[in-house]
Amino acid sequence: MFNCLVSLEELYKILRDIYLVYNMTKKYKIVFSRDDCIGCGACTNTCPDNWEMDVSGDKAKPKVLDIDETMYSCNNDAEEVCPVGAIKIEEIN
Ligand code: SF4
Repeated sequence: MFNCLVSLEELYKILRDIYLVYNMTKKYKIVFSRDDCIGCGACTNTCPDNWEMDVSGDKAKPKVLDIDETMYSCNNDAEEVCPVGAIKIEEIN
């Protein structure tokens, strides 16, 4: 009378994929305090994909402030190596 259309294993895979997609769509905002930056270059060495020195050469600047999960790890490393806490990453969803 009642047929189960999805096995537990299949259900597990579906839920796992939904979880993975959810995590891949997380969004973050980088909050950068230029005033606190001492221009050490640690962030630009750690995450050159998103951090560079600005035209003055004595301050860093992010290329983008809004990032997704694919850019999180690199920017999180930059946040961790910054000796003055000038980089903060906030989850926005
Ligand atoms: S690591 Fe911090 S202090 Fe050093 S350049 Fe980057 S933002 Fe500035």
